[in-house]
Amino acid sequence: MRSHLLNDLTAEQYCRSVKEGVERVAARIAATDRPFTGITVDELAPRIDRIDLDRPLGDTTAALDELEEVYLRDAVYFHHPRYVAHLNCPVVIPAVLGEAVLSAVNSSLDTWDQSAGGTLIERKLIDWTTARTGLGPAADGVFTSGGTQSNLQALLLAREEAKTDDLARLRILTSGASHFSVRKAAKLLGLGPDAVISVPVDPDKRMRTVCLARELERCRRDALVPMAVVATAGTTDFGSIDPLPEIAELCAQHGVWLHVDAAYGCGLLVSPTRRHLLDGIEHADSVTVDYHKSFFQPVSSSAVLVRDASTLRHATYHADYLNPRRAVLERIPNQVDKSLQTTRRFDALKLWMTLRVMGADGIGRLFDEVCDLAAEGFRMLAADPRFEVVVEPALSTLVFRCIPAGVTDPAEIDRANLHARKALFASGDAVIAGTTVDDRHYLKFTLLNPETTLDDLAVVLDLIADHVEQYLGESLDRAS
Ligand SMILES: *Cc1c(COP(=O)(O)O)cnc(C)c1O
Repeated sequence: MRSHLLNDLTAEQYCRSVKEGVERVAARIAATDRPFTGITVDELAPRIDRIDLDRPLGDTTAALDELEEVYLRDAVYFHHPRYVAHLNCPVVIPAVLGEAVLSAVNSSLDTWDQSAGGTLIERKLIDWTTARTGLGPAADGVFTSGGTQSNLQALLLAREEAKTDDLARLRILTSGASHFSVRKAAKLLGLGPDAVISVPVDPDKRMRTVCLARELERCRRDALVPMAVVATAGTTDFGSIDPLPEIAELCAQHGVWLHVDAAYGCGLLVSPTRRHLLDGIEHADSVTVDYHKSFFQPVSSSAVLVRDASTLRHATYHADYLNPRRAVLERIPNQVDKSLQTTRRFDALKLWMTLRVMGADGIGRLFDEVCDLAAEGFRMLAADPRFEVVVEPALSTLVFRCIPAGVTDPAEIDRANLHARKALFASGDAVIAGTTVDDRHYLKFTLLNPETTLDDLAVVLDLIADHVEQYLGESLDRAS
């Protein structure tokens, strides 16, 4: 079916197909009155099971009709104001346009001879981000598939810089509230099962620097090699920001690599009012930024940044068929020399289009709006006797639970909150997240949609309280 290839003969077909698909999505988005239909796996799976992949429809319209049935109608929609679950954002239109362009042209960012201008655009965006971060003139970085990969690459560089062959002695220090990808990276890097030391957090879920200092001393005494401290600027559950200046000071004293995981908090880089919350990040040796979280970019769009460009050499391998050593001498910019990936999407184009159309302040204002909403939501929750809220948010998450009047059994409170979350998902009226705090079940709002209002949150809280009441009523019936 050569006619399905995008080329000069099919350009018109390309316009028609993409337009038809885009119109479907636009119509679906305009028609969604809930973030989710509440469909179950058992309802949806048979629709997909009965599709015979060896019998193509041969027609775009038919395939889109089918897609409505198996995906579009029942997808979870992040643009809906009552989707307040995970770190997913509604996407800005210039970035979606960028996505359409980059997949049609299909540049691959590994070598200059596969991307040309794409390479330079990515480099300029990395420079722009390192400048905003304050990493200094020798900084560099590369786009990645996400925060998980950025953390892995940063820790690979840190491990190589630690200059010991004894992997068993290497340690990574990070707070108990940091992201699980730190542990995954430790495993992938061949470190031992005890490699990640969990540093306690304060009541605001920020790393306790006195405890970090103690652990660093302990490492020294035990002849262990702390290869990195991973500070989090925006923990996944609480949005808490570790005390970066104090941590940087300790890292400098002990000669330890400082990695700042700003996968979530990176939106502060463009915030017109909250940039100071990232003070200290400029001391980092490496930084993770996830534009697909707080820059309102489509998945995937992420980067790892380093203070010293030369450390990226630990990811450099040369292949005669791709990026021969000679290319370095000829000053041909081959981004593969800095990346864990080879073939790599031109994700940078989405951020480029966003900055060219909306500007950094436009993005920063959107992130400020959700942080402001979280602050208002916190006050609303704190004033509501039905709920208990854990910490005042630095960014845009709220972790809370419903404490129904007269119920004291902690296990019953857990079950009631768990039930409320599931019932809400099944209804599709709202999608919220959950987590545990001190082994108890809590509910979570992650606010990344500037269209979500305080009223939306009030409505969702009422729904939660209703589901909890209903559960307790049924629970009483079961008991009697
Ligand atoms: C989301 C997140 C990650 C992982 O990023 P992905 O893009 O999902 O791979 C890492 N660290 C923190 C703090 C996060 O919130």
